[in-house]
Amino acid sequence: AIRTRFAPSPTGLLHIGGVRTALFSWLYARRHGGVFILRIEDTDRERSTDAATQVILDGMEWLGLTADEGPFYQTRRMDRYREVIGQFLQAGHAYHCYCSKEELEEMRNRQLAAKQKPRYDGTCRNRTEPRPGVSPVVRFKNPLEGSVVVEDAIHGNVVFDNMELDDLIIARSDGTPTYNFCVVVDDSDMKCTHVIRGDDHLNNTPRQINMLRALGAPIPLYAHVPMILGQDGAKLSKRHGAVSVLQYREDGFLPEALLNYLVRLGWSHGDQEVFSMEEMTQLFDIKDVNKSASAFNPDKLLWLNQQHIMRATPERLAHYLKPQLAALGVTVSDDARLAAVAKAQQERAKTLKEMAQNSVFFFEDVTAYDEKAAKKNLAAEAAGPLEAVLKKLSDLQTWTASSLHDVVNQTATELGVGMGKVAQPIRVAVSGGTVSPPIDVTLEVLGREVTLSRLERALA
Ligand code: GLU
Repeated sequence: AIRTRFAPSPTGLLHIGGVRTALFSWLYARRHGGVFILRIEDTDRERSTDAATQVILDGMEWLGLTADEGPFYQTRRMDRYREVIGQFLQAGHAYHCYCSKEELEEMRNRQLAAKQKPRYDGTCRNRTEPRPGVSPVVRFKNPLEGSVVVEDAIHGNVVFDNMELDDLIIARSDGTPTYNFCVVVDDSDMKCTHVIRGDDHLNNTPRQINMLRALGAPIPLYAHVPMILGQDGAKLSKRHGAVSVLQYREDGFLPEALLNYLVRLGWSHGDQEVFSMEEMTQLFDIKDVNKSASAFNPDKLLWLNQQHIMRATPERLAHYLKPQLAALGVTVSDDARLAAVAKAQQERAKTLKEMAQNSVFFFEDVTAYDEKAAKKNLAAEAAGPLEAVLKKLSDLQTWTASSLHDVVNQTATELGVGMGKVAQPIRVAVSGGTVSPPIDVTLEVLGREVTLSRLERALA
């Protein structure tokens, strides 16, 4: 069975680059009926933070990228790493190295002077006696000859000469295991069949393959995903929107819109732009991901968000609209009404945040009018259409969008004006401004009582 993993380091807040890697791993597992594993690589205790871990967990949950196994934490697996280090030492795959900082420095300078690439020269490989008073590091005995071929689903075969790889430190002098070693033990223990990760890790892969071989573990298939760049071609940074993934939730993006945006970065299916989660799962293949880096385009993300808002069910929108309204101080308890508002708004909002801002009047009384709009639509000399339509609305028996539409239409005909001349004053009266869904739908959702009282007040 296929087993993929997402293995973020909680050293910075999870941003869209990481999310895209997670998405690819998750999609691949889903598509093949496999298992998706979440592993928190928190061995760098100086730089790892609980806050960053929490963003990973919350972000993955918000996005629906659920893990079938995990989260696992490397810091809780130290005993296991020590055990494998012991096994490596015993089997002769690793050795104690007593070289001092000064000796290593000297080695480096000597190699640089001889125009050689600096690397550990293996001095301690054949040492039989420990150096008294020195706590050694443990180094992996990398093969001295031959080459390692990384069979990469995106980059093709990438060949590394073993001569280029030196004997990696797998345990520091205080006994703590190092990064590449932990990844190897984990990928082996967790039986990962596919390793999908950022291509900044491609250079680690031959070392990891050599260690996996020493472990006697099968070699997973690799896919090194290209980076996301800013629109200016520079590495994605905060300035380009490399913010915490949760910022997108706060800004009113739907998870499926963000994921749709990310899946299209470097991957395509004909000229289709909008993909449901189901379509992504069925169509995505890691082999079809482009080798070159792609640039982040916030306008396209916004466009896709709008597309997904238009396609979502009102109930789903209501679920996300609720916290957006809460952030504006509006508490909504009537879910059906919230869904009705979302339905009325979904053709026009680019984000759920914007939808919330434009929906407050459905839940709270209008306490002020947009000044310009009021002058134009509610002032005494402009109030004719409003008075006429109020009278008709008061007499209206059935309060539905279609009957409301008829009333507005009829009033306009009688006054010999366009529908907008009637609809706009109503809109200002009930919403306080000039932005709302079509007036018939707006009034239907607002209800008879609220509509009439707001119209009366506007005329008072
Ligand atoms: N922890 C690494 C990172 O966050 C990923 C390592 C891997 O996927 O093998 O960049």
